[in-house]
Amino acid sequence: MRTFTIDEHDLLNSLKSAIKTNIDAAVKAAKDAFPAWSSRSPQERSTIICKLADFIERNLDEFAKAESRDQGKTVTFAASLDIPRSVYNFRFFASSILHHTTDCTQMDHLNCMHYTVRTPVGVAGLISPWNLPLYLLTWKIAPAIACGNTVVAKPSEMTSVTAWMMCKLLKEAGVPPGVVNIVFGTGPRAGDALVCHPDVPIISFTGSTSTAQGIIERSAPFCKKMSLELGGKNPAIIFKDADLEECINTTVKSSFSNQGEICLCTSRIYVQTAIYDDFLQRFVDAAKTWKVGSPSDPSACMGALISEHHLTKVRNYVKKALAEGATVLCGEGVDTLDIPSENQGGYFMLPTVIIGLSEESTCMQEEIFGPVTCIVPFDTEEEVIDKANGVKFGLAATVWTKDVGRVHRVAKRLQTGLVWTNCWLIRDLNLPFGGMKASGLGREGAKDSYDFFTEVKTVTIKH
Ligand code: NAD
Repeated sequence: MRTFTIDEHDLLNSLKSAIKTNIDAAVKAAKDAFPAWSSRSPQERSTIICKLADFIERNLDEFAKAESRDQGKTVTFAASLDIPRSVYNFRFFASSILHHTTDCTQMDHLNCMHYTVRTPVGVAGLISPWNLPLYLLTWKIAPAIACGNTVVAKPSEMTSVTAWMMCKLLKEAGVPPGVVNIVFGTGPRAGDALVCHPDVPIISFTGSTSTAQGIIERSAPFCKKMSLELGGKNPAIIFKDADLEECINTTVKSSFSNQGEICLCTSRIYVQTAIYDDFLQRFVDAAKTWKVGSPSDPSACMGALISEHHLTKVRNYVKKALAEGATVLCGEGVDTLDIPSENQGGYFMLPTVIIGLSEESTCMQEEIFGPVTCIVPFDTEEEVIDKANGVKFGLAATVWTKDVGRVHRVAKRLQTGLVWTNCWLIRDLNLPFGGMKASGLGREGAKDSYDFFTEVKTVTIKH
């Protein structure tokens, strides 16, 4: 058992109170800035937010390199996905805020009409994870401030650099002081202080299901408005009439992009028996060509995992699968990593494909959040729907078939917030994003974020 000396206790206590003082100061700044920011017209707020987008875009290369250094992902991935999407998040919500309308209904028999009014909620607490650092932080900041809220945002302590870089651009873009406050610190300290702050009535959190469960408990006494975007255990369902070439290329991507560290990554692949052997062979061949390399190597498809701790966790899942009777077809423990000497100390892992697991096994039930995917055969539509739904998560699924009737039937019965058919990760930000079951609470997207980051009031007028 770990024992603390008196001095260590003192140190921890003063660190805790310093963090609380910082959060208090950030919340106060946000609270003070709220009346003026929320009184600006949507057009004025939109113009400022677009400027911020322009500034980030102008520094795209610098942001992408920093994101790669901080997170381990390739520069190519950060430059083609993370940072452009961060820019787009601001542009999108700056535009969408100009197009919302409220409701009006009439009750002529009672000489009444009703209409709704929407107002920003106040100081929003925003907490984001390490896998898509600036992308997910801006996915929250953009709609929150577009709606007229002010924010205190906490990026993951593992990947705070691009958030810090963005701080430097806020003033230049004309964001008034106190509108966006970025706080740095660990979850249990800075995150918890934010969650428990009485002057923060609304929390948008993206991260793991277990952290969210703690956040729900800790914020319960304050009855806060909550949006929770959590973990996934996403199935790909591949029917025998699928376009196999396209399906395999996309499913390799959906399994291993960003080192498998995307909440939407595929981690269970169900393949109809008639094409199982063919699929397996071609999928493993394709996975072997998914190059792991230095994050700065433009030909690398995958960089390093976020930390040594996480790499160990992901590797332990592979060990557990072997102990549960599975076979590893490629990757961890089977093939050899070929990494340049200057990257030898990095947390690299090969794309790993596992077969022979039961539905109840650990790797088929728990979120691994790394470059590991499991392949299982199935016979019927009914059977595969049951299997796909047989986990506690419900974030995303992909379905591969040319049969439109089947697409409709299967999509309707899948217990996931998103269903992609014959594609993956194509998003229209106008539409709801979020998960069912242990994958989350609430939805975000143009209208959904507007609903979440505003309070609605119904006004009735009798004449
Ligand atoms: P995490 O839950 O450990 O941390 C997420 C954030 O919460 C971090 O900023 C962390 O500092 C903070 N935090 C930790 N403990 C806290 C506490 N007690 N109070 C307040 N804040 C606290 O998650 P992670 O490991 O950073 O990210 C990986 C997880 O995020 C995976 O489960 C992944 O599926 C999920 N995720 C979900 C989505 C989605 O949109 N559904 C997107 C990306 C990642």
